[in-house]
Amino acid sequence: MTNRHSRQSFLGKTSEATIQNTAVAVIGLCGGGSHVSQQLAHIGVGKLVLIDCDFAEDSNRNRMVGLTYAEAQTKARKVDVIATRVSSVSPETEIVKHDGPWNHALDDLKNVDFIFGCVDTMGARDDIERFARRYGIAYIDIGMDVHGEEGRYFISGQVIASLPGQPCMRCMGFITDAALAAENARYGAAGGHPQVVWPNGVLASTAIGIFMALRTPWNDQIPPPIFIEYDGNRCTTAPSPKLKYLAAGVCRHMDGTDGAGDVA
Ligand SMILES: [Zn+2]
Repeated sequence: MTNRHSRQSFLGKTSEATIQNTAVAVIGLCGGGSHVSQQLAHIGVGKLVLIDCDFAEDSNRNRMVGLTYAEAQTKARKVDVIATRVSSVSPETEIVKHDGPWNHALDDLKNVDFIFGCVDTMGARDDIERFARRYGIAYIDIGMDVHGEEGRYFISGQVIASLPGQPCMRCMGFITDAALAAENARYGAAGGHPQVVWPNGVLASTAIGIFMALRTPWNDQIPPPIFIEYDGNRCTTAPSPKLKYLAAGVCRHMDGTDGAGDVA
């Protein structure tokens, strides 16, 4: 046990080595992904694949943790901002940066143990989940939403773990064809979605807690399927009521992807 890990030794005798041997990808490094990456750096994961094609700007300062004023003014690449913060906390962590779309990073993504999806659209979630299934990789998705109208706004969010051999996000009633079609119809219509820092902090911390429960032996009280909903007005998290209606039997949505590896 190194001194660095002395305060997290309760995670298990082999957990330090496990964490050091874990490779994690984070797709999307702004609101949610900045928190996730920061915590993975503190935990001390061995390898981080950081993916974001965007540049920082002033409108990101309300939620991208670690972003400096100067980086926002000079429009630094988000991936460079987060890589710099991660390596300043954890120089031991190997970092692989991708400043293009996530599907240009498949060779690196294939070889990670976990993928965190911190993306804006249902379509991207759907595609990333399918990719993760194909390679038998655990996928943890976080997202938040603000809806309502003047005078009455509601913040909601969710954390979902889509694990090989377990129910997918369609099984859990989160991704639906109707939701994907509605999103496609809206595409390009609205400006940036409302986003704030604190719900992303709750969601990212919840996602990291799930990751640590799955990766180390300290906690067996969150068995799959894992779908946590966040009520940002009441400031509560709870298992989604949708899990009650989970279809019996094994997932058939991901047929042809589960553990299939490269497609010929
Ligand atoms: Zn399914």
